[in-house]
Amino acid sequence: MPDEIIVYQSKKMCGNEIICQTKNRGAEQRDGLFHRIALKVRTRFAPTPSGYLHRGNLANAQINAWLAQQIHGDLVLRIDADDRARCQPQYSDFIVASLRELGIAYTLYAPDIESRKEYLKSELKLIPRQNLFACDCSRSSLIEQECSCREQSLAWQPGVNALRLHLDPDLTATVNGELFRLHDEFGDVVLWRRDDIPAYHWANVIDDRDLGISHIVRGRDLLASSALHIHIASMIGAVTVAKAQYHHHSLLVDSTGKKLSKSQQSNAQPPTLDLTFLSDVRTSAQELADELGIAVP
Ligand SMILES: [Zn+2]
Repeated sequence: MPDEIIVYQSKKMCGNEIICQTKNRGAEQRDGLFHRIALKVRTRFAPTPSGYLHRGNLANAQINAWLAQQIHGDLVLRIDADDRARCQPQYSDFIVASLRELGIAYTLYAPDIESRKEYLKSELKLIPRQNLFACDCSRSSLIEQECSCREQSLAWQPGVNALRLHLDPDLTATVNGELFRLHDEFGDVVLWRRDDIPAYHWANVIDDRDLGISHIVRGRDLLASSALHIHIASMIGAVTVAKAQYHHHSLLVDSTGKKLSKSQQSNAQPPTLDLTFLSDVRTSAQELADELGIAVP
């Protein structure tokens, strides 16, 4: 069994602290609340359970685990189930089963979704108000024209409209020596979705900050996202996220050269966690780890 630690946010909310309960590290209890675990170095694997993970997703988990070993830190598993309509328990179960079969040890971060949502919403106060604006645009209207809601100064109503962060067209951010014009990549980026769900970029920055993630390994498709996260983190003083070490690996393709994607059909079968599949994951992970200079034990 992996060396598993349960981490969750207390419903009482202890300031902005992440409250932790450890199963096997003997954390102290104080005033009925659990102690924060301070770890200096950490990686994380943050899949969304919206389909069965594929070989590429699992290779990413494996590389993160190897990197955690290399830096003498730990790996956090954060299952991103904020969008409950898209997430299914069988997909989460498959994540846990695959990591077990791969022998990957991790710290589980599993906050209560409702209190987490309120917490992420309250953290929006860290962003200067003048940089945020409410957006009324529907998905279909955005296909036809760009959002111009900023000029209208609408009141933000969670569940009715979205909340966007204005990104100046001249604003740039650099990650791994690559420079991105953030507005070209994201427009004015949504931080809170119209359906009252924290948007991926916002949840990601706050989670990485609170969990003290120091090393981030992602596919190259998320390079611009990393640049955006560094910008948001700098804006809110999330120093560890702004200064984290970012690694981006190539994306795996199938035999026809097509990018792998999670199978989402309701009748889809999970990949069989047999020796062939597990060894394919490790071989793929090994190639990508070599590319990034991460030691394979
Ligand atoms: Zn709009």
